[in-house]
Amino acid sequence: MTLVITHPDALLHENPPGHPEQVARLRYVLEALEGMTLDREEAREASDEPLLRCHPQAYLDRIAGAVPEEGWVQLDADTFLSPGTWRAARLAAGAAVRAVDAVMEGSARNVFCAMRPPGHHAETATPMGFCTLGNVAIAAKHALEAHGISRVAVVDFDVHHGNGTQDLLWDEPRARFWSTHQMPLWPGTGDASETGPHGTVTNVPLPPGSGGAAFRAAMERIVLPGIDEFAPELLLISAGFDAHHADPLAQLAWTTEDFAWATERLCDAAWTHCAGRVVSCLEGGYDLDALANAVAAHVDVLRRRTDG
Ligand SMILES: [Zn+2]
Repeated sequence: MTLVITHPDALLHENPPGHPEQVARLRYVLEALEGMTLDREEAREASDEPLLRCHPQAYLDRIAGAVPEEGWVQLDADTFLSPGTWRAARLAAGAAVRAVDAVMEGSARNVFCAMRPPGHHAETATPMGFCTLGNVAIAAKHALEAHGISRVAVVDFDVHHGNGTQDLLWDEPRARFWSTHQMPLWPGTGDASETGPHGTVTNVPLPPGSGGAAFRAAMERIVLPGIDEFAPELLLISAGFDAHHADPLAQLAWTTEDFAWATERLCDAAWTHCAGRVVSCLEGGYDLDALANAVAAHVDVLRRRTDG
């Protein structure tokens, strides 16, 4: 069965009115998943141990200490703390960690973490891009350290470069990271020349206006062969849905079917190499209807691929 991990307190993280990373995103996502046959579980907050594999204690203290009692604290141009942010962020990281435990222990074949805030822009000691904790990198290091595996793959198909995940896994030879993203686009990183000291980082920039065909070609020429060569023991997905043609933040022109296709191919790879073990964490996606439809298509593939 596919497990969905979520928590109502993920709605407690609020951004100022008009901010694209809004509470309604998660409401739409959960509503889209409502009718599906899925295992469901409430997230629990990550303990310090998995967080400290990615972020120093001083950073955790700084963010926790900056959370306001009301209103917002602004960390950069578009990253805000509200009274519920730290609770939500620790739950989002905890969901990713728990998801790894579930697939490694065999209680779930694959997992979708329906949480917010997203995580893939949070660097070691720098919150950015709506993110404070690097959920997927935290999950990757948890898999390596707590489950004794030696090869974990991370695929990030959010329209923005996963600079945070790249930063957090940069020195980790046991993790490989593939990011497809629009370029040029914020945050500006993610050039193909950024490969890391161990050659474990693969960036696949895509030009504005390019559609699903260019994405599928990049997957087939670069990402999927790379995964086959690496033969991971676990596959993690940073599942952002802002490359959808309806998304207001970017200019890639993918369809819901493109997200379903990518999920199928990643499940194929997971079945070839790691008994179908996939953990997918929600990142971006800012057109509410497009987000809901794309998540439903993504999770429906996960649900249909639990047996091969
Ligand atoms: Zn994004």
